[in-house]
Amino acid sequence: MFRSILENWLQSSINQLKSNVSHRRITMIYYEVLCNSCKKIFRVYEGSLKYKQFKERKSRTFCCDDCGHKIRIEAIKNFFR
Ligand SMILES: [Zn+2]
Repeated sequence: MFRSILENWLQSSINQLKSNVSHRRITMIYYEVLCNSCKKIFRVYEGSLKYKQFKERKSRTFCCDDCGHKIRIEAIKNFFR
């Protein structure tokens, strides 16, 4: 009797722990930022460099990963011209 209560309690606390973990995985913190180049709204997720810059207001202009990639390629092209 006591053993089954203990097992139930253990199982429920394990389930609670699991649901906490999956909940944390779903609720990722992000900001919606307007891309300065293509004018589309994109997300910057917590932990990324852009998120940090946005939070600390270090940079006012942002561009999404696509535009950032294009700008980098253009800069490289210009460099070799
Ligand atoms: Zn863009």
